[in-house]
Amino acid sequence: MNQSYKMLYKLAIGFKKWEEQKGSLPEEVHDGLKLMVSECARNQMYPPTDINQLMKILPLPSKEWGISGLESIFPPEASLLNNEFGVTLEAEDFLEEIESPEEYEQSIMKQILLYCRTNNLEDSYRLIRIFLSNKSHSVIPFYKLYDFYGKISNSDLINLVSSCYEEVVNIEHYRKCPNCGWTLEWKKGNWRCNKENTCQALSDFRSIEHYDETDEKLLRMKSGIQKYILLPGMSELRIADKLSEKGYKVTCIRILMNTILKLKQLIMSPCWMLKIIIILIN
Ligand SMILES: [Zn+2]
Repeated sequence: MNQSYKMLYKLAIGFKKWEEQKGSLPEEVHDGLKLMVSECARNQMYPPTDINQLMKILPLPSKEWGISGLESIFPPEASLLNNEFGVTLEAEDFLEEIESPEEYEQSIMKQILLYCRTNNLEDSYRLIRIFLSNKSHSVIPFYKLYDFYGKISNSDLINLVSSCYEEVVNIEHYRKCPNCGWTLEWKKGNWRCNKENTCQALSDFRSIEHYDETDEKLLRMKSGIQKYILLPGMSELRIADKLSEKGYKVTCIRILMNTILKLKQLIMSPCWMLKIIIILIN
């Protein structure tokens, strides 16, 4: 890992941790600052002397930081921090990529996929994928998840699915997302669903409900599962339902969608996409 790579990684992971845990700045941010000082010296630029200066630089497009070679590992137009939302999507993507291949191999869905492939458990994979694409499973009492474990009946897979969830305490502090059912948080005068709040564009946020009061232990999907599995999965299931209603036989929609998304990049036409779905399913 070269130094500018390491600097970006430390800063992105440090600020991400800070967002999640609050409190004092994580050690990684200080490490990232030291690496940036050294990178600036290498590029004969004035370095940031403290965290305040660093936080003025990071919301700027990375091409303005004055560090040569960064453009090969991070989009030059993208910043690492956004004053309003914290760590940017590009920085999150960077973390996803930098964690690969090791981390990617360890990512939960990938592990589930590999495990099911290796053990000829395609039906279990489909079952899990559909379960995690259902908005009514984004926040669930533990006993419901436990019921689902009975359907998987494989202890390795059960462990993997359980790591897609985390306990949510103080549910009264949250509201229910009208789009995906996940926990909305009150931030800067608005209810927001996860970081990008894409759900707001997809549903009506004017009448938002509390969760029902319960003494049960409640779990919610981890943020990455909500973002990368639930939201795209919901769209796929909607398409699958519509096609089923029209009498088409729909089975492995996930594989189809991946293929379609690649084709879509080439064709860039939603009408073409729909035609391709129908052709592939027929
Ligand atoms: Zn949502």
